[in-house]
Amino acid sequence: TASLGVMGGGQLGRMFVHAAQALGYRSVVLDPDADSPAGLVAHQHIRADYLDEAALAELAAQCGAITTEFENVPAQALARLAERRVVAPAGAAVAICQDRADEKAHFKASGVACAPYAEITTAADLAAVSDDLLPGILKTARMGYDGKGQMRVRSRAELVAAWDELKNVRCVLEQMLPLALELSVISARNAAGEIVQFPVQQNLHIDGILALTQVPAPAVGPELAAEALASAARIAASMNYVGVLCVEFFVLQDGRLIVNEMAPRPHNSGHYTMDACDVSQFDLQVRAMAGLPLRQPRLHSPCVMLNLLGDLWFGTDGAERSPVWDQVLALPCTHLHLYGKASARPGRKMGHLNISAATAAEAAATARAAAALLGLPTQW
Ligand code: ATP
Ligand code: MG
Ligand code: MG
Repeated sequence: TASLGVMGGGQLGRMFVHAAQALGYRSVVLDPDADSPAGLVAHQHIRADYLDEAALAELAAQCGAITTEFENVPAQALARLAERRVVAPAGAAVAICQDRADEKAHFKASGVACAPYAEITTAADLAAVSDDLLPGILKTARMGYDGKGQMRVRSRAELVAAWDELKNVRCVLEQMLPLALELSVISARNAAGEIVQFPVQQNLHIDGILALTQVPAPAVGPELAAEALASAARIAASMNYVGVLCVEFFVLQDGRLIVNEMAPRPHNSGHYTMDACDVSQFDLQVRAMAGLPLRQPRLHSPCVMLNLLGDLWFGTDGAERSPVWDQVLALPCTHLHLYGKASARPGRKMGHLNISAATAAEAAATARAAAALLGLPTQW
């Protein structure tokens, strides 16, 4: 049987492995961690550093095609693999997504508006920042996720202090925008340039981490949805992207659509596709890398996804406990996905709960009931 490989062993890798296995592929995970969520379910787990030459050679020897499940995989490792095998997405595309300044330059080149920003590499760049960018958000150019590596700054004094606190690494300063809501679009594109897309997803972030995704997006009209899909398609096509790409957008209070950032892989906001669409984002990741036909996904059920963070595993007294899954699973239309992580920590992504129903109203009502049982916010 043919084999597919994935760089990284987190929950996205685990769900990729499940999708690959459903289509009959052997799966091989490269991850340094002994009990990574994907390594536990793959046929083979190469336990090594991402730049380990022998490990990369073995992954290439074992697999017909290789993908990645996290954007910070060393681009150099993908380049090494690409000497021998299909790598999708390519290292060059992943490299753009790894750097907020490169990413924003790519958005501009694709003709899609992003937040006004300045790149800050030196103290002189910091001093030269225009007043219009304040209040703003200072974000490390590399390695940030779930709101980590970013600080909100109201004044120049706060900006200087924040850059010090971020250890003077290369950053971008973005103007703080008046958001009405947040969206994302997941596209899958193949080497022939064919593209298919899931419907626009409406996302709620709490404390910088995705809390909830709703599809169909309740506050998005057809014109805005079409603009978001077209922008995401342009962003993918203009870097000749092959694979699954998630593009995050802001909708401003004046109704304008602004691109925020992108991820070169399936995305947390696309987890609803597993239970609400006839092909999931992970199915399309497999299809795109393996050269199988892409198929336009069909949303068969309105859906709400609740993210399950490690906080749920701790009571108000701080003692560890198990969430009330029996009560949640007694509700209609609930699909629980747990990632098999060995231990819970506040803020750690442990799983998600999809609530797909016959109507959006029913999905929302059941999601609120589930959220209340779990102690998650119900006001949305
Ligand atoms: P992810 O986990 O999605 O990769 P991240 O750490 O890369 O997140 P961003 O997506 O850049 O972070 O920002 C996190 C959240 O902060 C956004 O979803 C949005 O709610 C808020 N935010 C970011 N930039 C801005 C901005 N310029 N104006 C207003 N809000 C913003
Ligand atoms: Mg990000
Ligand atoms: Mg984000």
